[in-house]
Amino acid sequence: MDLLEHQGKELFGRYGLPVPPGFVAAGVPEAREVADRLGYPVVVKAQVHIGGRGKAGGIRLARDAGEVVTAAHSILGMDIGGHTVGCVLVEEAARIAAEYYASFTLDRSGGRYLGMLSARGGVDIEAVAASDPGSIARVWVDPVEGLDEPEARRWVRAARLEETAADELVEVLAALYEAFVEGDADLVEINPLILTPEGRVRVLDAKVTLDDNSLFRHPEYRDYDATQPRDEREASAHALGLQYVGLDGTVGVIANGAGLAMSTVDVVAQAGGAAANFLDIGGGADVETMAAALRVINNDPAVKAIFINIFGGIVQGEVVAQGILDALDRVELRAPIVLRLDGTNADQGRAMVAPRLSEMLMMAGSMSGGAARAVAIAGRG
Ligand code: GDP
Ligand code: MN
Repeated sequence: MDLLEHQGKELFGRYGLPVPPGFVAAGVPEAREVADRLGYPVVVKAQVHIGGRGKAGGIRLARDAGEVVTAAHSILGMDIGGHTVGCVLVEEAARIAAEYYASFTLDRSGGRYLGMLSARGGVDIEAVAASDPGSIARVWVDPVEGLDEPEARRWVRAARLEETAADELVEVLAALYEAFVEGDADLVEINPLILTPEGRVRVLDAKVTLDDNSLFRHPEYRDYDATQPRDEREASAHALGLQYVGLDGTVGVIANGAGLAMSTVDVVAQAGGAAANFLDIGGGADVETMAAALRVINNDPAVKAIFINIFGGIVQGEVVAQGILDALDRVELRAPIVLRLDGTNADQGRAMVAPRLSEMLMMAGSMSGGAARAVAIAGRG
């Protein structure tokens, strides 16, 4: 789950990182109120789940109330890389003497955390990595041992950051590391981490990706979930509690189990087609879930055929069959279903479906056969 800048800064603030004072505003008058409270100058920053806001005109400095109104007016509702700006962060403006880059992420192959630090912040770090790789100082941290102070100090020196700010930088990096580990993040990135003309260190931007699997440890993260960017299909599937990811193809896919759903997407591709989605209805495959799944897929105008691929492990074939038949009574289908039913008591399940077979409900003998049939109906991707 990716956080908006203001959410990331709120998280950072809890771990003692020096974040400038600021508040979010969803409207122009509210932005002005916040700015009046903070005192001028302020920066008005678009809150969207995408970088490069500066270049897109989504970040503006305002020296008085009039300028805040103009800035908020032009930024709210703006489109940045396909994301519409719904709110702005109004923040005390900082004066910048130097812009640095700092991040922690996972190095999966190394089985360690990877920290990156550079004196060349404020710009796209991928571009820096390509043109001037030597300017990025890396540190690999053992998750059990953590980041100790001497190591952080060597790291700051290796990145050639301002010597006189070293103490404060070491503290900031320790706090960032703590936010990363304790906050169960997959990525924490500050770009730019700045040095003020007075030699103070401040966090000007925040990019955070949280590990969704840690939600049970962080009830406070539930608020962040509501602001996740989802397409319409994903939003309705999420509301129904389904594990759904929207894709670009024309074959709607329903399977029980994430592994089977994933391989169903693959066999559809192998058959020359393209899946419209990934959808795992879980182990149970009861009527409620099946009906919800069919509704979501049925509402996707791109879907030309639906491939239901069920393998009964613990769940029994006749239970799945009943679920599908009952769901069909509730949902008026726009596209035909190809059903593959295998596993425990599959024969009984198929026998129950047999009387209802039609042009809108077809039975396939195998997974690959079902995929081929669905692709034949939907057209090649
Ligand atoms: P991004 O473009 O989406 O990464 O947004 P950032 O938050 O990183 O802002 C982009 C740039 O705007 C920064 O690199 C700064 O140069 C500038 N900026 C952001 N906040 C301030 C501020 O408080 N004062 C000044 N002077 N510049 C700022
Ligand atoms: Mn940035």
